[in-house]
Amino acid sequence: MKNVVFNDMGREAEFKPDPIFKKYLKLTESDIKKEFKYKKQLKVSDCPACESRKNSKAFSKFGFQYVECQNCGTVYMSPHMEDSRIKEHFLNSQSIRFWRDTLSKATQDKRKEKIYNHRWQWINDTVEEYLSGDRNIADFNSKNMDYVIELLNNKYFNKKLIVNPYFNIEDVTDNDLKRKLSLASDPRNLFSNKNSINITTLFEVIDYTSDVDTLMKTTKNLLCKGGLCFITTISISGFDLQVLWENSRSIFPVDRINVLSQKGLELLFKRHGFEILEFSTPGVLDFDIVESEFKKHPDLPIPRFIRTVLARDDEQLKQDFQNFLQVNKLSSFARIVLRKK
Ligand SMILES: [Zn+2]
Repeated sequence: MKNVVFNDMGREAEFKPDPIFKKYLKLTESDIKKEFKYKKQLKVSDCPACESRKNSKAFSKFGFQYVECQNCGTVYMSPHMEDSRIKEHFLNSQSIRFWRDTLSKATQDKRKEKIYNHRWQWINDTVEEYLSGDRNIADFNSKNMDYVIELLNNKYFNKKLIVNPYFNIEDVTDNDLKRKLSLASDPRNLFSNKNSINITTLFEVIDYTSDVDTLMKTTKNLLCKGGLCFITTISISGFDLQVLWENSRSIFPVDRINVLSQKGLELLFKRHGFEILEFSTPGVLDFDIVESEFKKHPDLPIPRFIRTVLARDDEQLKQDFQNFLQVNKLSSFARIVLRKK
């Protein structure tokens, strides 16, 4: 199984600049509390990764309970909301409008440079290694309109299918793109293209999906034999999430209702009959996230050893530390390539 490492450091502030991100969190909390006021409508669930029923309380976020699976260590919201209501939130809430109009625009260039370009490179390299012939891609349940537009403009792929987007096509202002997007999102294409799709992508989608099993089944059904599935997600096994735990600003509903452990991710993919070709954690932000949280909140319960490392304030040490996390699959940002058997 391949393990890839990146050697540039990132800054969390480049992707989530305070105070814009703070405002986004505040708006999200207020939306979620209104939208999911009736807690009786939420459903208790088994572990989305390994299906175990054994769990213990982990922490609560915005008044919603997260539990930790006692079998695989996955942290997930339970009870949780249904996928149709989660999609409704992404389509219509005030916080998401704020995200699109403000946060997404402020970080657009950095995202393009540090996230999307890496993604294309990753997909291209992997496809060249494992596939031949046409490159037909289906992107699933994306809430990221900017990314989908980049995909539609990408000439590397022959056919492009946008499955169940979690944003309003009407919000796309460019008419030519809107037309392309409508065509690529037409559900009839799902059937006419069956067995011709050899690439599927789930970029940070498991994170906000309540029925992960159906998501994996749908993805697998659409993919031809030998086809590749590209996944990114954050994992609770990673450094910043292990250290910050309930104080992490990356875990909150509904953006992150599942934070699977590494063991959980592997169990999930094997259970659905996929072969894992790559499992890397090429995250560049773990150390920076812990450092900036600690600077803002010196009272945070951070292990003594980590405090000692932070106190050295040594750039080379920080880079070496982040590199160590990547090499040993201990960063919280995971990227995975699966192959349908
Ligand atoms: Zn589990």
